[in-house]
Amino acid sequence: MFGCRVVFCKCHSLGCPWRGPCKEREEHQNICDFPRRIGADLLDIVRMKQEQEKSDDTRLLNTLFDLLSYEKIVFNGNLVLVRVGDSGK
Ligand SMILES: [Zn+2]
Repeated sequence: MFGCRVVFCKCHSLGCPWRGPCKEREEHQNICDFPRRIGADLLDIVRMKQEQEKSDDTRLLNTLFDLLSYEKIVFNGNLVLVRVGDSGK
């Protein structure tokens, strides 16, 4: 709808998946149960998010280290990766 942005719930950073038109946010936030959840639940969600971010970081680092293990990376329309020790062949 015109003049209405898509926004997240104010509890989005706590794990609430709701997103929708800004005019519906207040209505959602009145029934959103995230503020009422007990601390332990929230702690679990925060921990889960941290674990997920950590594994994303680890995956990125592994990709980076993998790329760094190549002696040569050539991009000429095709990506050519040459491993250390393969270049003489
Ligand atoms: Zn919510």
